[in-house]
Amino acid sequence: MKIQNITVLGSTGSIGMSTLDVIRRHPDRFHVFALCAHSQVESLFAQCLEFRPEFAVVRDAQLAAQLAELCRSAGLLTEVRYGVEALIEMSAAPEVDSVMAAIVGAAGLEPTLAAARAGKKLMLANKEVLVMAGELFMHAVREHGATLLPVDSEHNAIFQSLPADFGRGLAACGVQKILLTASGGPFRNTPLADLSAVTPDAACAHPNWVMGRKISVDSATMMNKGLEVIEAHWIFAAPPEMIQVVVHPQSVIHSAVQFADGSVLAQMGNPDMRTPIAYAMAYPERIAAGVEPLDLFKIARLEFYEPDFERFRCLQLAYDVLREGGTAPAILNAANETAVAAFLAGSLPFLGIARLNEATLDALPARPEGSLEDVLAADAEARLFACQAIRENSFS
Ligand code: NAD
Ligand code: MG
Repeated sequence: MKIQNITVLGSTGSIGMSTLDVIRRHPDRFHVFALCAHSQVESLFAQCLEFRPEFAVVRDAQLAAQLAELCRSAGLLTEVRYGVEALIEMSAAPEVDSVMAAIVGAAGLEPTLAAARAGKKLMLANKEVLVMAGELFMHAVREHGATLLPVDSEHNAIFQSLPADFGRGLAACGVQKILLTASGGPFRNTPLADLSAVTPDAACAHPNWVMGRKISVDSATMMNKGLEVIEAHWIFAAPPEMIQVVVHPQSVIHSAVQFADGSVLAQMGNPDMRTPIAYAMAYPERIAAGVEPLDLFKIARLEFYEPDFERFRCLQLAYDVLREGGTAPAILNAANETAVAAFLAGSLPFLGIARLNEATLDALPARPEGSLEDVLAADAEARLFACQAIRENSFS
């Protein structure tokens, strides 16, 4: 078996660490070529010591010098680089077979796009890439023969439930609906009056999943499910009306597909990201992921509810921008990233996130998606508007 050479974008994050855990279990299958992170030098160094990659990438020259010094004194041959150009290089390097795209937010767009353009096997966790530039990204995947494997648990479940040739069109495969499950997050039943006082720690305390702070807040507002509706639209070429969000608090069914003959195929498992990660890494084979087997007797009960679009305004906004098209999803994504960062920093109340997202969409016109530059311009304009609105305190 040929060893798979992997670049991990976002190796110090929640998905990055779960990816390394799967790699750790299969040294005969996988080799880490590059580890890329933002600024957590200590944990990146520990990862370098264990996985001995050819390259490590951090944000800037100063952090790179720190990491290079640590590597040198430990006798490691890992070469340290920094900045976006280095991320792009690690995604597209000829030695690389596959790329785990697990940077959070818009920062992952360019390196992930570079992996698609280099025709890599691309394991996609970084959903914001598809929200910002779905058309551009899917075009690059097709044009350059990249293999796109969804890591987001819902999309991975849908991928597993669809026939292998779903690319010929969902309707042609007899698909009626995609049932995109959602836990509903920590505030599914919280009285509306209490939501204004929600703290960042309460928002990040997800009932079923342990994740990075940005996606945890997105789960609490259900913006995450909205981003996933857009993600499903692009990966599976599914029109918005074919994508039905189903609130399923146990997070055991990770999503399902309903077919014309009445069949519903679903993928189930314990909520542990190592399952979709291992599936993507070994595809089309199945390998051990260190995940507890699902005990149906212990679970005993699965519940399903319709989503509440009033309580979770962000979910409605996602359907709206998907129907509007062009740069509207990129504007929503940028406003949301700005809002979540402000909420986590204590400068925006929880309910201000949805209000700021909506106000940014109302203020800025969407344009055709066009080129990467158009997308980045829409992203920058939305961030500017949102930052100013937060500074002026219009949403407290
Ligand atoms: P995280 O915050 O735990 O980790 C983010 C990683 O990205 C870190 O390694 C960080 O160093 C790196 N990073 C951040 N900004 C960067 C920059 N500018 N340049 C280079 N690296 C940068 O996030 P996470 O929870 O692992 O999520 C990562 C992505 O996966 C997100 O897009 C999220 O929506 C998606 N995702 C996560 C989960 C999950 O269970 N955590 C599930 C599905 C999808
Ligand atoms: Mg998900």
